[in-house]
Amino acid sequence: KGPDPDLPLIQQRMSRIKHKILIMSGKGGVGKSTFTAQLGWAFSSRFSGHFEDEEEDIKHATNGSSAQKEEAEKQVAIMDIDICGPSIPTILGLAGQSIHSTSQGWSPVYVSDNLCAMSIGFLLPSASSAVIWRGPKKNGLIKQFLKDVDWTAGLEEEEEEQEQNKLQPDSSQSASPSPLIDYMLIDTPPGTSDEHLSIVSYLKQSGITGAILLTTPQEVSLQDVRKEISFCRKMDVPILGIVENMAGFVCPSCTGYSEIFYPSTGGAKALCEELGLTFLGSIPLDPRIGKSCDLGVSFCDEYPDSPATKAYGDVIDRI
Ligand code: ADP
Repeated sequence: KGPDPDLPLIQQRMSRIKHKILIMSGKGGVGKSTFTAQLGWAFSSRFSGHFEDEEEDIKHATNGSSAQKEEAEKQVAIMDIDICGPSIPTILGLAGQSIHSTSQGWSPVYVSDNLCAMSIGFLLPSASSAVIWRGPKKNGLIKQFLKDVDWTAGLEEEEEEQEQNKLQPDSSQSASPSPLIDYMLIDTPPGTSDEHLSIVSYLKQSGITGAILLTTPQEVSLQDVRKEISFCRKMDVPILGIVENMAGFVCPSCTGYSEIFYPSTGGAKALCEELGLTFLGSIPLDPRIGKSCDLGVSFCDEYPDSPATKAYGDVIDRI
């Protein structure tokens, strides 16, 4: 069996994306899609160049250093490969949207100027449609996402360059373009299944920045994280760190902190210390997170002073 003829095109598409980050969890329901979407929004707000007051905005636009300007222009993408349970469209407020095709491929759906997403959810007739696929078909869709999505669609400054530099099936025939998307967060299904094997084997050719592993504080979830760690180590995927989600409870009325589960927090940090991994932070249980997801809005923009918003910021600072 010869080399996959689609690999050069996949590599060419992926060369436009600087950091490719897998979001993984051992169990379902620990908040992986929520975390992926809200982290995507947190990244996008940080890089959108909007400052807290207008005066600061003007100062930035006129006198900002080149580093500041670069920071302001960063693009973020979310790729949802949780094929059987795609919740990213709803959480990003994009339910009912569908994908458009151009001569350059499938265009992702835009949430804001610098945040876009691709999900099988955009290809289904309705949010309640079930996807009942075996491994090879899932592998085919993941390959199609990597090969056919034009992540540069919607980025105006790129249009001219794209016209001149049409995608070639053989990447060696065209100049290697510089990355356009700075961060791509990839929401994966729980566990280590066909989807993980597919994405890792395709992305390996063009480089994976690493994986963020998500757990809740409970021992059952922590045990499964050990399996994710073992998968990443076997597959040579760097582990960027572990995030503890639903750690403690923040009362939305009084913003007081309580511990409602046992253990309420601490297990992920201890695991990181034991295994020499980076602890990326604890996101508390906050009912407003669920509400923001149901409404399809950014939690961090809605509640900028909340402990969870600070926790999302800490994750960005530490990866
Ligand atoms: P997964 O993708 O791991 O299956 P989801 O992201 O669908 O999990 O989250 C499961 C449920 O938990 C959702 O109802 C979501 O709103 C809620 N949730 C996730 N994280 C938090 C949090 N930190 N605080 C409150 N609710 C949360």
